[in-house]
Amino acid sequence: MTIIQVSNLQKSFGQLSVLKNITFDVKKNDVIAVIGPSGSGKSTMLRSIIHLEKVDNGSIRINEDDLVKNGIYPNDRKIKQITHKMGMVFQHFNLFPHLTVKENLEIAPLVVQSEKIEIVRKRSTEVLEKVGLSDKANVFPAKLSGGQKQRVAIARALMMNPDILLFDEPTSALDPELTGEVLKVMKILAQEHMTMIVVTHEMGFAKEVANRILFMDNGEIVESGSPEQLFSNPKNERTKSFLTKAY
Ligand code: ADP
Ligand code: MG
Repeated sequence: MTIIQVSNLQKSFGQLSVLKNITFDVKKNDVIAVIGPSGSGKSTMLRSIIHLEKVDNGSIRINEDDLVKNGIYPNDRKIKQITHKMGMVFQHFNLFPHLTVKENLEIAPLVVQSEKIEIVRKRSTEVLEKVGLSDKANVFPAKLSGGQKQRVAIARALMMNPDILLFDEPTSALDPELTGEVLKVMKILAQEHMTMIVVTHEMGFAKEVANRILFMDNGEIVESGSPEQLFSNPKNERTKSFLTKAY
């Protein structure tokens, strides 16, 4: 079942064309790894899907709804309704420093979604357990390592019960010894069949966990395929050259 259909996305920042006819689809339970050099448009593509950026043209269909169709967006209320079931995890965790871990998780469901406090409390307990941080519930972010902060950020995204999780280089800001604990949580989510799009430089993770790889360069999806195909037998010269440098 296709849950995201991206067609012919185009976006420029001023004169700079950043997304050029991006087309791909995401099926339920897909784990898609997006790889490619810095500046190739990976973040802009991801941000467009969750409406942190507006595209100039093209379409993004999410479940049965058009987030944008041929460059035309619906009204804000409709956009919110469509993007509501997506969560995103960023390179920098963006936690609220003045709130405890548990409060960081609960604030959006309580204040933005006006959910019942008992339900939200129960869910925050569950998601903290999932990311292995039950013992940090009442701690402030400053007391956490980078890896723990990123796991809180993942837990916070899970609080919204997302159908789809987007990750933008979730381990790039971490010391190498802390990336493993974050990748492990992401792997658990994948095993639980969360649909995920992951922009990453972690080729090992991409190879092991993703079922499809998209290679982007210069605003285009140059090549896509299974990890076996793309890593062992890349067809495009630009893919080959990137993979040689990335290893
Ligand atoms: P990646 O995530 O692959 O590194 P990005 O999507 O962040 O690539 O950026 C693609 C290109 O768009 C880069 O050249 C970047 O400098 C440019 N860019 C990204 N965001 C903006 C912005 N808000 N304003 C102007 N240029 C931007
Ligand atoms: Mg980026």
